[in-house]
Amino acid sequence: MKLLLLGAGGFIGSNLVEHLGAAGEHQLVGIDKSAEKLAGIAPANFRFVEADVAESHDAVEREIAAADVVVDLMAYANPSIYVETPLDVVRLNYDLNIAIVDACVRHGARLIQYSTSEVYGKPNGPTYREDESDLCLGPVEKQRWIYAAAKQLLERVIHAHGLAGDLDYTIVRPFNFIGPRVDYLVGPGTRGGPRVFAHFMSALLTGGPIQLVGGGEQRRSFTHIEDANTAFDAMLRHPDANRRVFNVGNPGNDTSIRGLAELMSRLYRDLTGEQPTSEVVEIGGEEFYGAGYEDSSRVPPDISRLRSLGWEPVHDLEATLRDAMEATLGSAEAAELVSDHRPG
Ligand code: UDP
Repeated sequence: MKLLLLGAGGFIGSNLVEHLGAAGEHQLVGIDKSAEKLAGIAPANFRFVEADVAESHDAVEREIAAADVVVDLMAYANPSIYVETPLDVVRLNYDLNIAIVDACVRHGARLIQYSTSEVYGKPNGPTYREDESDLCLGPVEKQRWIYAAAKQLLERVIHAHGLAGDLDYTIVRPFNFIGPRVDYLVGPGTRGGPRVFAHFMSALLTGGPIQLVGGGEQRRSFTHIEDANTAFDAMLRHPDANRRVFNVGNPGNDTSIRGLAELMSRLYRDLTGEQPTSEVVEIGGEEFYGAGYEDSSRVPPDISRLRSLGWEPVHDLEATLRDAMEATLGSAEAAELVSDHRPG
C-alpha cells in the first residue's frame, strides 16, 4: 500500500516512519515543515517532502491523489498553545485538516485521522467509551477547550462523510503517548511550553523545580509509543476499523500527575545513579499556562473496541516511562540542557 503521512516530522509521525520503515511492507511518503525529528531515520521505502501543507497545495493534492491511505497527524497538541494562540489551533487543527478530508473524498483515499482523547473533556463516568461517552467541554472563555472543540467538529464532519458513503476513515484518539522525541526540553522553572513528561524530565536534568499544576491530583493514562505503533498496524489492517473511532491508550497506566513525578524521580535515580535534587512545588493552572487555562482530570480509556481488533498494550507504566526517559537521557538535547544549566 501507498501511505502518505502528513506531519511525518512530529513525535508520532517520526516514530511511525521508523516503525513502518523497519517492517518494509508499505511505500511511505511523509510531508512536514521540518525534518528535525526524522534525523537518522531514512528507511529505504520512505520518501520525505519538506513542505508547509498550508502553502504547497498542488504538491499535497498530488501526493493525496497517489496515496491509498492518508495518515493525518498535523496538529498543535500542546495546552500552552491552546491558551496562547487559540486561533492558530483552529486554523491548523480544523481548517487545514478539513481541506485534507475534502481531498481524500475527491481522490478516494482512506483517511486515518489522529484526533485526541481531549475530545471527551471532563469525565462523566468511570471510563471513556467511543460510542457512549458524552463529550463535556469547559466554557468558551476558557480557551483551552478550543483544541478539543476543533477536533470534535473535525471528527463529526468525517463521520458525516462516512454516513454519506464518500469516505473510508478511521479516527484515532490518543491517550498521552510518550517515547523518544516527545516534545522538547526547557530550562529550570519554565512555565507553559511542552507537555508534562518533557517538563519533569527537564526539571530532573537541571535540578529545577518539578511543578505540579493545580496540586497534581489530576490523572492521565500514559501510552508507550511502541504500543501506539502496533495499534496503528491493527487499525490499518483490520476491515472492522473502517468508519470507526478508536481510543488508543493503556488503562493500566493510569496515574496522578503527582504519582508521575514520584515515579520519574525514582527512575531517574535508577537510570543515572544520581539522587534528583528537584524540589516538588505546586502552582496554579493560570499561573503556569496563563489566563484561559482550565485543567481537568481524566479517567482511563475503555479499549475494548481496539482489543476486538486483536491489539493489546504490552508496556506497563514503569517500562513506558523508563524507555522514554532513557531515550531522552541519551539525546544530544539533554546533553546540551545539562551543559547550559549545570556546567562542570
Ligand atoms: N502538568 C504539570 N506540570 C507540568 C506540566 C503539566 O503538573 O510541568 C499537568 C497539566 O496541568 C495536566 C497534566 O500535567 O494536568 C498533563 O498535561 P500535558 O501538558 O502533558 O497534556 P494534557 O494531557 O493535558 O493534554
